Amino acid sequence: MNRFLNKGMAASLQFRMASNLLINDSKYAFLKELGLKENNAGVFHGKWAASGQVVQSFAPANNSPIANVQNGNVQDYEIAITEARKGYNDWCEVPAPRRGEIVRQIGDKLRTQLQNLGKLVSLEMGKISAEGVGEVQEYVDICDYATGLSRSLEGKIFPSERPGHALLEQWNPLGVVGVISAFNFPCAVYGWNNALALVTGNSCIWKPAPSTPLTAIAVTKLVEEVLVANNVNPALCSLVCGEGDVGQALVKDKRVNLVSFTGSSEIGKIVGQQVQARFGKLLLELGGNNAIIVNEDADLNMVVPATVFAAVGTAGQRCTTTRRLIIHEKVYDQVVERLKKAYAQFESRIGCPLDSNTIIGPLHNQQAVGKYKASIAEAIASGGKIEYGGKVLERDGNFVLPTIVTGLKHDDPVVLRETFAPILYVLKFSTLDEAIAINNEVDQGLSSSLFTTNIQNVFKWMGPKGSDCGIVNVNIPTSGAEIGGAFGGEKETGGGRESGSDSWRQYMRRSTCTINYSKELPLAQGIKFE
Ligand code: NAD
Repeated sequence: MNRFLNKGMAASLQFRMASNLLINDSKYAFLKELGLKENNAGVFHGKWAASGQVVQSFAPANNSPIANVQNGNVQDYEIAITEARKGYNDWCEVPAPRRGEIVRQIGDKLRTQLQNLGKLVSLEMGKISAEGVGEVQEYVDICDYATGLSRSLEGKIFPSERPGHALLEQWNPLGVVGVISAFNFPCAVYGWNNALALVTGNSCIWKPAPSTPLTAIAVTKLVEEVLVANNVNPALCSLVCGEGDVGQALVKDKRVNLVSFTGSSEIGKIVGQQVQARFGKLLLELGGNNAIIVNEDADLNMVVPATVFAAVGTAGQRCTTTRRLIIHEKVYDQVVERLKKAYAQFESRIGCPLDSNTIIGPLHNQQAVGKYKASIAEAIASGGKIEYGGKVLERDGNFVLPTIVTGLKHDDPVVLRETFAPILYVLKFSTLDEAIAINNEVDQGLSSSLFTTNIQNVFKWMGPKGSDCGIVNVNIPTSGAEIGGAFGGEKETGGGRESGSDSWRQYMRRSTCTINYSKELPLAQGIKFE
């Protein structure tokens, strides 16, 4: 079936297609409990109203349509940005702790729908239930974090060199934060941005990935309820589902003070240049090509489960997925053998992401399956050996076997590229310096991990001659970051930081204020106008 229907066709087909929609199957009753319907408006600007194309959202486990969504177009975007700015005008003057209280209520509202929303994320994105619920929990956690933060958005006070003067920093909101998100974290990425943007006094306008609109609509409905209950203009959290044209309108719009973009390095590079061209603020969270280094002194009982978790989790569709395993020559054979056994154990647990027995779900769509096949063909053509997997499963949906490839050079083009699928390239090294150089030679710089029991190696790894990534782990995998730390990466990962630590500063602008409370006017550089 054509994924995108024009309006007229859609109207005539809607009645016929309604019976095929998963939303009408009692197995998926949670969809209606989340307020979703057969036909959903994909635009919210205080009101739900969309005038773009009608599309369907599909379940990657069987490629069946879940429900219809009417996307937004550029005109809808125009209304949304106007309303989001109006929302900002009042919100920026609400005291930060009061803003924090409302964000706390958003967290509580999400808690009431944690399981349902988690199931929707699983159904629409394809990640397993535990990961779907975990993703919603991250939004809940960042709401708690942001609530505390709302009482400590501190500025510094410096000693002034002039008598009777105070020199201090005041942090103010930016205005509108535009959030463009990727398909693989359809809930949490918005949550990280939304909670911090709100407590820091901004409004939000969200353009989710075109293939996960239902999660965005369900989340926005919950947020809307909280804002309305608190007499806050709900356009504060506006939504425009749509394609790249809506993204482009947002990126080029001077009224969007910060563009927080999560997606591929390829699109991020275009977006980055466009936002810079208008001197807007940017927060880029782009691709990763993450490695685990297994040193000769590593605890292999930790290495094997950590690698499996990070290489096959979310079917290899996390930005922090382990894609390269760099193993010391002395333990290489042993680790590869143990990994192959571990992978084989999971083969019977590949399946529907909503089944509790499933550990590995499907890829998101057929394009992703195509990229998986192409990368495996390229790896073989470059001399790689498939130690495990390498096949598309003959069943409905987008299922592939997680794959281990050995025998490639560390700088083979396929190894240097991020293929968003569960393919692990295994490489060999003899000195730690060599392994660190391999870790750092890719264009991306998101996450990295070293397994070692030697304290000297740990501090080398963390230091200037160690990993060049934003996330530098020891004895844990590359994925599974906590919200308390700043999340993001260097080089072609974009340099942005989200979530914890002082990431909140990216949603605010700094005013350096000098206040003269004396009766004198001492001018800088000793200049006197007599
Ligand atoms: P993508 O780049 O294809 O799309 C991301 C978003 O950009 C979507 O909403 C899309 O509609 C929008 N978009 C597309 N063209 C646009 C344009 N010209 N202007 C403005 N917006 C446009 O990425 P994807 O396939 O959805 O997600 C996978 C990628 O995201 C991977 O590379 C992954 O590593 C990365 N990712 C990174 C992080 C991180 O935190 N670093 C987190 C999740 C995903």
